[in-house]
Amino acid sequence: MQRPIPWFWILLALLLLLAPGPAGRFLIDLLGSITLLLLVLPLLLGVAGFVGWQILRRRLRTCEVCGFSSLDQEVCPACGTSFAASSPQPSADVAAADATIDVEVVEVKDQSP
Ligand SMILES: [Zn+2]
Repeated sequence: MQRPIPWFWILLALLLLLAPGPAGRFLIDLLGSITLLLLVLPLLLGVAGFVGWQILRRRLRTCEVCGFSSLDQEVCPACGTSFAASSPQPSADVAAADATIDVEVVEVKDQSP
């Protein structure tokens, strides 16, 4: 069984697209907007997913005993090891200006023959 061609709707769409008027312009704007949305939406979703994954990965903690990755928690849900005891987090209270970086001077010997 073949569906009849909807000539009425095709003619109506052609009329709306070709007719110079607010309805035709609105339809063209609408189609353009939908096309733009369809093109940009995957990109936006990809960027949002990437940022979300980065945030999630920053909050993930890996147990040093069993290697189980879990979200920000005090105790490993797999083996029960306390994260505070097994992996002390670097203190974030130290300002960058107050931090001291020890640089060791190493004499480089001339290795050219
Ligand atoms: Zn564990």
